[in-house]
Amino acid sequence: MSGFAASKAEYSGNFTVNFKKAFQGISEVSENHKEYTLPSPGTKIAVWAHMGGYSGKALNPDEVEKLRNFVKDGGILVLYASTPTNAFPKGKTQFDLSPAVPVLGAKAYAYGNWKSTVQPKGTEIFGSDAEKYNIFAGQARRPGLGKLDGLTVLFGTPDTADLGVMRIGKGAVIYTGTDPKDPVYAEALAKLVTILLDEKELDRLFPLQKSNGAVLMEGKKLHLAIATGGQKTILPDILAQSLGKDSFTPVEDVDQILIHVGETPYVKSLGLDFQSLHPFGYYMICRDGRNIVLAGKNRAGTNYAVNDFLKRFAGYRAYPGGKLYEIIPKQDALKLPAKFEFREEPSIKSYNLVFTNNGDFARNPRMTCMATHALSELVPPAKYGKTHPEYFPLIGGKRRLPDDKGKFAGPWNPCMSHGDLEKLVEEYADDYFKKHPDNFGLPLGVNDGGGDCQCEKCVAELNRTGNQYARFYNLAARVLAKKYPEKVVSFIAYGRTASAVPRGVKMENNILVEVINWGSVNAYERMEQWKKIGVRHFGLYDYIYSAGSGYVTPRYFPHTIGNAWKENHKKYSIETMWLEFYPSSYVFESPRQYVLDELAWNINADIGVLLKDYFRNVYAEAAEPMEKFFNHLEEVYSRKPDALVPMNDWKRPKQMKEFTFGDLEQLDAFLAEAKKRVKNPDAAKRLALLEKYYGLTRLHIENSICSNELEKIQKVTSDSECRKIVELVKRGYAAAAGAEHYTMTPEEEKLIFLPGGYTKDNSLARWKKMSTLHPTALLEINVDPALGKVTEYLKTKGKNIAEFYAKAADSAGQEAARAAFLTQSYVQTDREEQNLVRNPSFEEVSGKHESLAASDHTPFQASFWSTWCFPSSVTRFFINKEAAHSGKQSASIGELQIGGAIISYVKLEPKCRYRLSFWVRRNRGDEGFGCGQLGIRFQGKSGWLDQGSAVSVVYPPECENKWVRLDTTFTAPDEPATALLIFGAPRQAEGVWTAFDDVSLVKIFDPNQAGVKKK
Ligand SMILES: [Zn+2]
Repeated sequence: MSGFAASKAEYSGNFTVNFKKAFQGISEVSENHKEYTLPSPGTKIAVWAHMGGYSGKALNPDEVEKLRNFVKDGGILVLYASTPTNAFPKGKTQFDLSPAVPVLGAKAYAYGNWKSTVQPKGTEIFGSDAEKYNIFAGQARRPGLGKLDGLTVLFGTPDTADLGVMRIGKGAVIYTGTDPKDPVYAEALAKLVTILLDEKELDRLFPLQKSNGAVLMEGKKLHLAIATGGQKTILPDILAQSLGKDSFTPVEDVDQILIHVGETPYVKSLGLDFQSLHPFGYYMICRDGRNIVLAGKNRAGTNYAVNDFLKRFAGYRAYPGGKLYEIIPKQDALKLPAKFEFREEPSIKSYNLVFTNNGDFARNPRMTCMATHALSELVPPAKYGKTHPEYFPLIGGKRRLPDDKGKFAGPWNPCMSHGDLEKLVEEYADDYFKKHPDNFGLPLGVNDGGGDCQCEKCVAELNRTGNQYARFYNLAARVLAKKYPEKVVSFIAYGRTASAVPRGVKMENNILVEVINWGSVNAYERMEQWKKIGVRHFGLYDYIYSAGSGYVTPRYFPHTIGNAWKENHKKYSIETMWLEFYPSSYVFESPRQYVLDELAWNINADIGVLLKDYFRNVYAEAAEPMEKFFNHLEEVYSRKPDALVPMNDWKRPKQMKEFTFGDLEQLDAFLAEAKKRVKNPDAAKRLALLEKYYGLTRLHIENSICSNELEKIQKVTSDSECRKIVELVKRGYAAAAGAEHYTMTPEEEKLIFLPGGYTKDNSLARWKKMSTLHPTALLEINVDPALGKVTEYLKTKGKNIAEFYAKAADSAGQEAARAAFLTQSYVQTDREEQNLVRNPSFEEVSGKHESLAASDHTPFQASFWSTWCFPSSVTRFFINKEAAHSGKQSASIGELQIGGAIISYVKLEPKCRYRLSFWVRRNRGDEGFGCGQLGIRFQGKSGWLDQGSAVSVVYPPECENKWVRLDTTFTAPDEPATALLIFGAPRQAEGVWTAFDDVSLVKIFDPNQAGVKKK
């Protein structure tokens, strides 16, 4: 220890006196400075201590490096309290010390009240004196260093240092939150300095980090490090899990690979072309076999780069569906090529998948062009509400204007029939592109929900071209072309007034039309029509809702939709996609969405390769049978006549139409094979969950197949057919009961239904509330007609009907099946059929009404009937004297913009069964929105008993100019309830109507009536 007394110590700052006292036995003062001064040659200890405002300058990066070299060569640097904030360059805030990390080993200056305790390293150094030396323990608010990145805490908390040491090369930095005026603490500091000056002790207590050997490059194991100062991402966490190492801090004097995340100084030094890069594009580069660049043009792009790097080189996968589908392969070292260079940009320039929990791995979202709902931005109500009423829509003969706060009561679109449009477009474009310079589209899509101007000129425009806004879009495009020639006008072809391809209009070539995929014509055929009138830029707005959100079937169609994307991307160069996903579960959705997300980034990716990758990673040994299982699901899906419009069967039973009993057998067999093969515990867990979920969907499908089979029956001609029908009815009800009473453990439910999407409360209970897909209701539509045919057959053969059904009822299994069988004998009994619908043929218009069932219902002209329509849109209800099935008139719905219905309320008795019949007629055929449908909903004492019509009857095309009789049967809820008979209509133009007449609702079964045996 000799010679320490001669160590030269140099002091900077106005608060050094107590340090000098503390260190007088181990050093001699060589120099004093008022301002922070780099130590001169020969100095061993540098103490920087300042209190209060500092008038000098902070070090520049060069000086920081020199100071670091002083320590690296064996110096001891002591820093006091807030001195680091004065001495070093700072980051974004006063507390941000990240530029000084190489010296401090901490990113932040801290000030607060944390509880100071002796940390393990403190005990190791000071032994039994440690508690005594920690004078911070009883202190109140005080300074310290936080966000540690190399600094070892002696006193403090694991995350915040009161006293800490940062080893650098042959020397060390000491940070102390207080000065040594307390003799006890002075003794501690002197001891610490003495120890750190001893090379052997320094090495023993603060060993230099060695290579983690986490990279294998060209056959050599190297240290893998993440450069300091980069963007915070998942990189260190995933690498740690994959490689089993806990630190990726750069280490000096070892061979290392340094990963630069975001625009670090090294990345800047490469001079990469970020200017021309897509806003969400990124670089993955290694040019020198030592430095790797993962950097996007924006922060999201950097996250995408990190995910892509992990995907390519670490085997990392974060398939849609959360942690359960995250795969982090374990390995000793990351194998990296010495050179690689990727400049990544997406095929689909603007991509939004809403709502999903799978962002960065899917490289979603990347919105650079919005085409939806923004047209009202053209005339800000606050700016023009008072001065320019003519900019706003004329609806029902009145200008709709904003209130005093500039707010509107409902959705609206501007009037397009005044002279200021060019000026307004220019103003809007200037404002928009100033705020969103990276976006390439000026959003001018109509809003969601009507509110279009009905002034004479606007209506004339709609009548002339079929699209109220097309010629305005041309005008906007011409304005844009002058000032923003590289941008486009973007809009969604949506709603009654803006979706039609305009007649007699040639569209400008700087227009992007986002086409919705809904209805009888698929999006790509619509693109063709727009292309013919000059449109050169396209977007796709599609709907891929999941099982649990209006679907009980798996939604699996990666080839069908993926190949359509590929083909049509080539044909129409689709530039934007907005996809409504709304997942409630990812169990079936995950592989399809993985493929679609990958294609949206790289449209040339191979679907087969992507799927192989998915199934191998997710289902391990069971990959092959699981791929077959899913392929079979897609095979069934592809039988749909409108498979390219994935949303056409949303909430509708036709989503199950293509399944057969044979399909279920096939699927069961693949699943059984998968279970036999699977070994990997994670894969087995995923498989078990899929099986659980599939069990539920399978019951719905089985029920639907029974219903469809019953529907096919034309005429019954043999006893064996009677038996077959009875068996189908029983099987159908058994499946329905299975689905209605399906259970999952809380753990299963939590993993199958993930929070997020449209609603947070995705659950089995919510699944069961999907009323329009309610299995019993779907079955009953076809049970009664089929059994009716059995009854007819029994009658013609002179058989005993009551006996036949009593026997069927005895073996029914389910109460509902029993009721269905006994209905047949019940309707044969002597009884008076009473029509429960009041004013059933709309002849009475005396204005008698009852209290309304819902606040948004309105009394109709015909007594005891009411109406409902979508707010701030047009729906015309009227008594139709042109058409009557009986009497002099019928009830009709005329022009209808969004939605509306004529409604009757009928009281029901619990568990009784009813038959509804009515006549319908339309004066036009299907105009692209179907022919409309009737729905039945139930209200009980506590309010609605369902979430939509469980029972519905679709009007067939035959009702064009001809009265058609339709009927359906249903079972009343278990409690006293009111049925709402809701006669709807499709969207209809002026002059089109749908008429209803002779509505009848009769009871066809009553479990309490005599003659009905109870089980
Ligand atoms: Zn107008």
